[in-house]
Amino acid sequence: MLPKIFRQRDDEGGAAGLVSSTATLGGGFINGAAHHPPKVIARGVDVFYGDKQALFDVSLEVPDKAVTAFIGPSGCGKSTFLRCINRMNDTIPYARVTGRIEMDGEDVNARSVDPVVLRARVGMVFQKPNPFPKSIFENVAYGPRIHGLAGSKSDLEGVVEQSLRRAGLWEEVKDRLHQPGTGLSGGQQQRLVIARAISVSPEVILMDEPCSALDPIATARIEELIDELRQQFCIVIVTHSMAQAARVSQKTAFFHLGTLVETGPTEEMFQRPKDPRTQDYITGRFG
Ligand code: ADP
Ligand code: MG
Repeated sequence: MLPKIFRQRDDEGGAAGLVSSTATLGGGFINGAAHHPPKVIARGVDVFYGDKQALFDVSLEVPDKAVTAFIGPSGCGKSTFLRCINRMNDTIPYARVTGRIEMDGEDVNARSVDPVVLRARVGMVFQKPNPFPKSIFENVAYGPRIHGLAGSKSDLEGVVEQSLRRAGLWEEVKDRLHQPGTGLSGGQQQRLVIARAISVSPEVILMDEPCSALDPIATARIEELIDELRQQFCIVIVTHSMAQAARVSQKTAFFHLGTLVETGPTEEMFQRPKDPRTQDYITGRFG
């Protein structure tokens, strides 16, 4: 059972019941992430936007085949750090990243790494579902096609079906694959973009507040999906909901004012935070 602080502080309006009913979904760190070697390792990462420093000396290990939650108040650098992992900060001309980020021991910022290939290996899902203005089928087929992952038309159809199945959307859309992706509900669109991310066989999936725009039922579906996907992927989720972090993650990292204050197994972080700032945040003293 979760500590009381969580059950009181659920910022997803109406989802409070979910906390206790699905609290064991993640299975706990001990049975979950503890055995998994790190997939991504950050060492001494600083990020600057022009003269302004947004991240200070962040070092973190992100376990494979597990969910890691990034929590912390708005503006503390969670999205900035997420974007370091797939080099999305490269697309911001005045952003500068120093320090080292490794994926499977390889420096992601090395010159030999093509950011386009890296971003297929490290998929990303955003707060607002962003399907392309194309059909459901084309949304999922696009990546495998441009990355040359499907040889024939039937291969491609197979990849699309598999991806939609794994994203828990197939049954709902199989009869309308050629209708626009933007015609789906918000929760379905979010599963569609997850299918799109999965379609190119990524290794890591980064999710930046993926449920913030969804109602509690759509949120619960995405959380179940995340729990299934962790069997296969390294997943990082940024969330403003303590309850969600507790439900879906095995490891939690708490950021504050551009620094990584504390990181550890999710249950430990929430039940016995070591730093008073973590304690204050998770009990809702600021946020
Ligand atoms: P979080 O995701 O935790 O809310 P962000 O990573 O978005 O935080 O932001 C961390 C800090 O970096 C904030 O002070 C924010 O204003 C700044 N920042 C984020 N993105 C940019 C950007 N593209 N240009 C300039 N400053 C930015
Ligand atoms: Mg953010």
